[in-house]
This record gives sequence, C-alpha cells and structure tokens, in this order.
Amino acid sequence: MRTGSDYRTALNDGRCVYVDGERVKGVADHPALRGIVRTIAGLFDAANDPAEKMTYVAPETGEPANKVFMVPRSAEDLATRRAAIRRWAQRTHGLVGRSPDHVGSFLAGFAANSGFFDAPNRSFGANVQAFYRKLLKENLYLSYVIIPPQTDRSKTAQGQEEAFMQVGVVKERDDGIVVRGAQMLGTGAAVSDWVFVSCIVPMKPGDEPYANTFVIPAGAKGLKLYARPPYATHKPRVYDYPLSTRYDESDALAVFDDVFVPWEQVFVYRDVERVRGQFFATAAHVLGNNQAQIRFTAKLQFLIGLARKIAATNQVDAFPGVVEKLGELASLAAIVEGMELASEAACTIDKQGVARPNGRFLYGAMGLQSELYPRALQTLRDLCGGGCLQVPSSAAELTHPETAADLQRYVRSPGVSAEERIKLFKLAWDLVGTEFGGRHLQYEMFYAGAPFVAKNYAYRNYGYEEAVAQVDACLASYDLNTPT
Ligand SMILES: Cc1cc2nc3c(=O)[nH]c(=O)nc-3n(C[C@H](O)[C@H](O)[C@H](O)COP(=O)(O)OP(=O)(O)OC[C@H]3O[C@@H](n4cnc5c(N)ncnc54)[C@H](O)[C@@H]3O)c2cc1C
Repeated sequence: MRTGSDYRTALNDGRCVYVDGERVKGVADHPALRGIVRTIAGLFDAANDPAEKMTYVAPETGEPANKVFMVPRSAEDLATRRAAIRRWAQRTHGLVGRSPDHVGSFLAGFAANSGFFDAPNRSFGANVQAFYRKLLKENLYLSYVIIPPQTDRSKTAQGQEEAFMQVGVVKERDDGIVVRGAQMLGTGAAVSDWVFVSCIVPMKPGDEPYANTFVIPAGAKGLKLYARPPYATHKPRVYDYPLSTRYDESDALAVFDDVFVPWEQVFVYRDVERVRGQFFATAAHVLGNNQAQIRFTAKLQFLIGLARKIAATNQVDAFPGVVEKLGELASLAAIVEGMELASEAACTIDKQGVARPNGRFLYGAMGLQSELYPRALQTLRDLCGGGCLQVPSSAAELTHPETAADLQRYVRSPGVSAEERIKLFKLAWDLVGTEFGGRHLQYEMFYAGAPFVAKNYAYRNYGYEEAVAQVDACLASYDLNTPT
C-alpha cells in the first residue's frame, strides 16, 4: 500500500491553496500545513506496519487494502473495521476529524450499492465502483464538500441572489461537465488527494444544475481552496502547542472556477432525488458517521484522561466535588462508547449484504453531541482552573538562565517537575482555550450538520413503533368504566 512518503510526494501537484494572502508553494512544507501533512503521512505509514494489523485482502480488488475502507458484511467485520479506525483515531487522539477513513467510509457505502447510481438514462454505478477500487488500491485520502456556501439558508440553490453561488454545471461536453460555483468548507481538502463534491442539503425541482455528485483531484485545474486562518503558524515548538502544531487539518472554502470533470468521475448528474438519496439509500451515511463516532470515542477518552491527570497533578482528585466531576466525564465518555458499540452489535444487514450500524444508537449519540462535547469541555476547563495560564509564554523560559530556577521552584506539583507540569497544562490549553480548541468545539457541534439536523437523524432513526405500541397498550388497558 501507499506509504506516507508516497502521499507527501503526491501532494506536489500544483494545487491552488491560499493562506494568508499568498498562493501556497508546496503544501507539504508550508508552515500552516506541514504539521498535518506529517500527521497524515504517519497514519499511512502506520497502516503499512504489519504490527498494526490494518490490512486485509479486499474482495473488490483481490489485493491488500486498508481495513478502514472495507465494506463490512457482518458484526464481526464492523468490529474489525472499528479496531483499524480506532488505531488511527488514537494516534491523533480523535483530533483529526476528517482523516482519510471518514470520506473513505462514505465511498465504501456508495460502492456497496453502486446500482443506486444507475439512473434510467445514465449508468454511473460503474464509475462509483471503479473509483472505490482506486481508493482501495492507492490508499487515497479523500475530503468532501457537501454543503453550499452560507449565504441565504432560507432558499435552495436556484433561489440565491446569483446563479452558481453553489457549485453547479455550466456546460455539458461529450467528454464530461464543466462546473462553477463554491461549496462551504472542505476540512482537510488542502492536504487531501481527491475531493468528493455533492450536496447533502435537500434540494427541490428546479435545482437540477446543482444536483450533481463527482470526485476531482485536489490539484484539478480551476479548483481554488481558501483556507481559514491557520493555527500552526508562528508556533515554533510542539511543546508549547502540541495539538495546533500537529493536528490542524485546515478548513477551506472550495471555489470551482469552471473546473472540467470527465464523465468517469461523475456519480450523479442533474438528479435532485439521487443526490439526496445517495447518502441514505446506500450505507454511506451510517458508515461515515460510525467512523465519526469511533473517532469521537477516542477523543472523549483523551479528554477524560487529561482531566484525570490534571486533577491528580493538582492533588484534588480525591475531593468529593472533583470525583463527581470526573465521574460525570466518565459517564459522558462511556455513553458515547456504549452507543457506538450498541450500533454495531445491533447492526442490520441490508439488501446489498452490508452490515449497517443500527441507526437508533448511532444517531442517538450524534443527536446529543452538540451538547455533550461542550459540557465535557466545560468540565475539563473547570478542572484546569488557572493552571493553564500559570505557564511561561514559551518553553524557552524553562532553559533560560534567568528564568529556569523560578519556574522549577514555583511551577511544579508533588512528584511532577516544572517541565512535566507545564507540558500537561499547555496540552490542556490547546484543547480548551486556543483557536484550535475553539474550532474543535465548532467542529463537534456542526460536522454532521447543525444540531437540529443531527436531532432530525435521531428522530428519523429511532423507530417509534414499539414506543407507540406501548402507549397504545397502556391506553387500551382501561376505559371510562374501568374501576379503580
Ligand atoms: C469545523 C467545521 C468543519 C467542517 N467540515 C466540513 C467538511 O469537511 N465538509 C463539508 O461539506 N462541510 C463541513 N462543514 C460544514 C458543516 O457541514 C456545516 O457547518 C453544517 O452543515 C451546518 O451548516 P451551516 O454551518 O451553514 O449552519 P446553518 O445550517 O446555517 O446553521 C446555523 C444556525 O442556524 C440554524 N438554522 C439554520 N437553518 C435552520 C432550519 N432550517 N431550522 C432551524 N434552524 C436552522 C441552526 O440551528 C444554527 O443554529 C464543517 C463545519 C465546521 C464548523
């Protein structure tokens, strides 16, 4: 399989990424992006390490492939896949939301029901299958942009002030289509190999020019990626900002300046129903979000580990009030992990033979994520007190002859040296208080849609039959004449 170094080399494709008013020359070495590139390269290398047990022989290619991309056919397959996803998630402490396994999981779901993409007049299913085989063979990193730009959310694509605000087809050619417009936010797009482009927000008749799904290389001519302010720049030491410097995956507005897309890369064309249906008629959405929950479980474990260590360092971990807070964090983390495991144990096998994590538990956890993560983060913040700020501005003060002695004397805890204590609290601050930490809060609240969208998924997937039947049975057990 492809290694980290192969991945780095592939990034050198002339892609158009703007950061701080300049077009980036070589994303792998740019200060804003080199940290995340190194991290992703590390994931690919880990997948190649036999000790990690992350490979299997994919039936679709007959060749070794990365387990994170597999189509699960049973609860056992889901567990196997989970172990691989968790290995990656634990390497980044759940802090790389759109690692390659996220969109890769969507692709596995699409490919397992590729017939869905065969429209009456156009058969795109073969394109989906071919691209999934490519993903498996080349161990690719896909990002996605599936949300229109935030302009006027009260209208669909056709109702915006100008045509082609949202990406749509401006021209059809014999060999493909030309697309123009923008999509809101491609996490990881600047450092991915390919970008999956579609729209998960419901559209309506009249939106056909915008109702497309396709994949394009991140370096495609005419694709411009406008990255938000980076968090890794001007931070020379990992010690001071251990998360910002290594896990800032970047989020970018994607602008399509008349980009040509060959037919082989098109999955849906001018089809409102199919664009919407692709996520749910296939196993794509459940597999992609199951990956997200496995990652989230790893992140919460990291967060509660941090909380526990901080409480122990400050010697407050035996106080009843602190135990209560740690216990609350433990409950939150265990609930998410339990729901993730339940969704796999209660999976269903769909008509294509794909093991789908059970929607009741999967979306049940997601529906509360926008409240649960801020609550967990707030508790960690609470436990940190001012300790996150009782740190020197940089690691340099720890070695400077005029400052080192003071820090060693005053910034320490029993059995914990100044260097260790400062390291721990700087790590906590990067999750709780930096721009990186703030962006993560936003991410957990919005990555699967606004909170009302996630709750809608929970509503639609709970399966109310039994619940309503119980109420009906209760109502039927008495009437006006029933004596007390
Ligand atoms: C850090 C981060 C990373 C992201 N990464 C990606 C990515 O990789 N790929 C991608 O495609 N997208 C990505 N997104 C975009 C994400 O999918 C959107 O943020 C999400 O779909 C919500 O859309 P929005 O931001 O426009 O918010 P909106 O949907 O506009 O919501 C904003 C507010 O308005 C309210 N609101 C809006 N419409 C309604 C309504 N109809 N009914 C009730 N309330 C409403 C919401 O409840 C919310 O309070 C990312 C977002 C973030 C924050």
